[in-house]
Amino acid sequence: MGAAGATTRTSTADGGTVVTGNPRLVLLGKQGAGKGTQAARLSEHYDIQHLSTGDLFRAQAAEGTAFGLEAKRYMDAGELVPDDIVIGIVEECLAPGGRLADGFVLDGFPRTVTQAEELERVLDGWPLDVAIDLDVPREIVLDRLAGRRVCEVCQRVYHVNMPPVHDWTCDDDGGPVVQREDDTEEAIERRLELYERETVPILDFYREHGKLVVVDGVGEGDEVFARLVRVVEDERRCARHGR
Ligand SMILES: [Zn+2]
Repeated sequence: MGAAGATTRTSTADGGTVVTGNPRLVLLGKQGAGKGTQAARLSEHYDIQHLSTGDLFRAQAAEGTAFGLEAKRYMDAGELVPDDIVIGIVEECLAPGGRLADGFVLDGFPRTVTQAEELERVLDGWPLDVAIDLDVPREIVLDRLAGRRVCEVCQRVYHVNMPPVHDWTCDDDGGPVVQREDDTEEAIERRLELYERETVPILDFYREHGKLVVVDGVGEGDEVFARLVRVVEDERRCARHGR
């Protein structure tokens, strides 16, 4: 893999590694930690592909693909989508010549150690720059998620504290702004529990591989974004110097 990508790693005389090309990032964090927003900003900043498995599942479900419909069934029930389904979807996107060949930020994937191992396998020889844990306390994400409302047409996200201008119709397209089926407090609690149970081992996995950096996700969006960029730059500088 990597033939179609712009990323290259070259050994230097002093035993270091020169990294060129775009970042390859994993962004981890609870749902509601602001991962999606920050991943989109990183994607724009570095001109890399943003892959959110949630959006991908919803898009595939809307298209009626077998993987997508199966994924949607689990999400509607507030359950995490099983590994084999997720991996099937993600591997297609990471295949040589695919749209992720020239750098990416993965958001919502990997969600299990098995997925993290599978990702290493698929990225064979072209590893991640860094896995970032965007850390936000549970109470804060609960409040954010339970108050979230989404436009059915364009998926724009609102909050009960920041509603659209006109009576729960989207500012952009007038579509109905509703609470998503999987955003009820009960479903959120269940997802957070599953997430916490499954994520500690993933954080350990990336820590053992020397890839994990924890970033404080509390604060203004701009502040958090600046922290993320600093981490990405630091990691790539260290890699260039053959740390
Ligand atoms: Zn809309």
